[in-house]
Formats: sequence, C-alpha cells, structure tokens
Amino acid sequence: MPSISLKTPVPGPRSQALIERRTQAVARGISQLTPIFVSRAEGAVIEDVDGNRFLDFAGGIGCLNAGHREPGVVAALHAQADRFLHTCFMVAPYESYVRLAEKLNALAPGDTPKKTILLNSGAEAVENAVKIARAYTRRPAVICFEDAFHGRTLLTLALTSKTHPYKAGFEPFPGDIYRVPYGLPAAQLEDTFQRVVAAESVAAIIAEPVQGEGGFRVPPPGWLAAVHRICRRHGILLIDDEVQTGFARTGRMFAIEHEGIEPDLLVTAKSLGGGLPLGAVTGQAEIMDHTGPGSLGGTFGGNPMACEAALAVIQAIECGRLCQRAEQLGRQFRQRALAWQQRFPAIRDVRGLGAMQAFELAGAPSTQALTKYCYEHGLILVTAGTYGNVVRILMPLAVTDDQMSEALDVIEAGLEAV
Ligand code: PLP
Repeated sequence: MPSISLKTPVPGPRSQALIERRTQAVARGISQLTPIFVSRAEGAVIEDVDGNRFLDFAGGIGCLNAGHREPGVVAALHAQADRFLHTCFMVAPYESYVRLAEKLNALAPGDTPKKTILLNSGAEAVENAVKIARAYTRRPAVICFEDAFHGRTLLTLALTSKTHPYKAGFEPFPGDIYRVPYGLPAAQLEDTFQRVVAAESVAAIIAEPVQGEGGFRVPPPGWLAAVHRICRRHGILLIDDEVQTGFARTGRMFAIEHEGIEPDLLVTAKSLGGGLPLGAVTGQAEIMDHTGPGSLGGTFGGNPMACEAALAVIQAIECGRLCQRAEQLGRQFRQRALAWQQRFPAIRDVRGLGAMQAFELAGAPSTQALTKYCYEHGLILVTAGTYGNVVRILMPLAVTDDQMSEALDVIEAGLEAV
C-alpha cells in the first residue's frame, strides 16, 4: 500500500477549522510550515485529522531519526508512565538518567573519560556548554560562524547568524560573541586572534560539523580538525553542536567522527529524545566537573520519560544499523538529485553528508513553491539556508526503500510542475 494517501485536498476541512482556531489562539511568532494538523504518526508517515497520509521528510525538524513511535520507545514510555513521571533528578534521582549519561559518555568520540548533564532542548544544552566552557577556561569570549544556528534563547540567538526572522527586534544580545566565516582557512582564524579578539580571551569555538539551518553546508574535509588544532594551541575549548547532525544522521553516530577528533564538549538534542524534549552536554570529565553542585541543571532536565525514550532510541540506532542505513539513503538521494541537476537549471547545488542531504535552488521554482507542491501531493519537506533557498531532507532513517522512492518521485514531479 502506498504511504501517501490523500482523501481530501490539503488542507482538508478539519485542518482548515483548526488553522482558524490556531490563528485566534496562538501568537504569530510561531510559524506554521504546512497547513495540516496531525492525528497520528508511525515510522515515516504522518496522518492528518482529515485522514490524509503524508511521508514525513521533516521528522519534526530532524528529531525522528529512529522514526515516529519507534516501538522500543513507545514500550519504554508505557512502562515508565506506569512507574513515575517526574521527581526532579536533583531531588530524588532515578537510574535511567545515570544509564543515559553512561551511554552518552561511552558513545562520545575519544578515549578521555566523559561526564554528561541532561537538559530540555538544543538551545538549553548550547547555553550550558558555553557556561561550562567559560567557567573552566575563566575566559569570556566565544567564536561562532556565519550561517550558524544554535537556538532561539538570547545567548543562543547571539550565536545564531540569521537576522530575519530569528534575531531582528530581539536585541541586545549577550556580548563577547565573535562571528567568522564558516570553513575559513586556519591561517585566517589565527589572524582573528590579532584583529578581532585575543586568543587568551576566548573560552570556546562553537561549530556545527555540518550546518543545519544554515543550509546543510559541509565544510572542507579536515577543516574541523584544523580548528581543533588551533583550539589546542590556544587553550580554547571546541564545542561540537551535533543537535541536528547527531544520532546517525550523517552516517556516523556523530558527524565529528568523520573528522576523527575528540571535541571538548559535545552538544546533542533533537533525535536523542525520539520525539520527547531532551538535550545533553557530554564532555571531558575534568571540564564537566569544574563547576560546583547546583551550578548546572534545571527542574525538568533529564525527565524520566525522556531518558527512557533516549535509551530506546540509541538501542534502535545500534540494533537497526541506522548509520549504515543513513549512508545508503544519502546515496539514493544524491543519485536522483544529481540527475535532477542535469535537467533543472534551478538546482544550483546538491550537497550533504550521509542522509543529511539537500539541494539549493536559484530562480524558479522557489523552495516555497516546491515544498507547497510537495505537501499538496503528500510529502512534507522543510527548507533551510540563510536565504531560505535550500530544500533539505530529514526523513526518519526508518523510512523504507519504497517510501524513499515515492518521496523522490513527488519532488521530481514538483520540479517538473512548478
Ligand atoms: N543547534 C542546532 C545545530 C540546531 O539545529 C538547533 C535547532 O534547530 C538548535 C541548536 C536548537 O535546538 P532547540 O530548537 O531544541 O532549542
């Protein structure tokens, strides 16, 4: 049976009615990328309240590498719901937090002993990584990159690059943040310490190993390793933001493994929680232990439901060999997309790493027109890029070969039609 099944035009009447209520009740600042409301989801398929079925190639923006309602996740959540929902780990701890920390410590690249803290989101994890880096180095500054995205809280907005719609109007941002071009040569980064900020003032350099919201930009091979060497030379910590690249998306558990280096602090979220809100900072034990009891944490960080979900997600990734699957899916996409590039002059670039793949459009069709065509034909896709001109694929890695082909057929038909 095909995954895509449209019973009504999109949006159907039930979704339409909910859109109207939403417009009255929810602030405009929360965008709506597709005009549907969800009724249920499974694997790589979402069903809306009108009974339409869509292939979900957004995955809640990269949160569902293991798939919607991954069976192990659902079972773990049921079992946990029968036991307890929240105690606050700082008040009355529970084993799943410790087990997840042990697991993340073991998975994090490199041999140095690690420790972990759990938070509620990617932005909160990034904030904590910066706190830890500043406390450990006793330095204030952070270097980040053009086109980076690290979140929407005030500190992470300072680290995020794109002005509209993210930053404009929310100034002022916290200081001592310095931005340089992504992928800039090592010599120029050294030059930054002469011309922009002294190396001995810099606590951390924060980088996405492949930029996510910035347009799935892959830096030259060896670049992050070169940044890492510069960090070492100057006593600066490397914060590896794997919120979008993590958990098998690029064909490795963490994208930095492609570079063979050990970051000082690893930031994860999104797919870690398998659909539940969860973030983590995993780092070298000596760095992580630098701040005293009570200096880190939060009421809900490492909630027991989220910990159980994450443990099941990691098991699903390992047992389902999702790293290998990501490589295959990436190859399947690239083969089709490179053929499209020959036919459709608007496709300026096809790029990515593993299953983190995208294509960039210049001219017609616009990404908006193409993604609209796609959801009207049963495929949910999201865009990326500072100029919104990149179509990215973030499907669950649990997608079947047939579903993948179906989705690629819809994109191809969209490129022909719009
Ligand atoms: N870092 C990266 C690389 C991201 O892609 C995102 C979200 O897209 C974040 C941080 C922020 O994560 P959250 O939306 O969970 O706060």
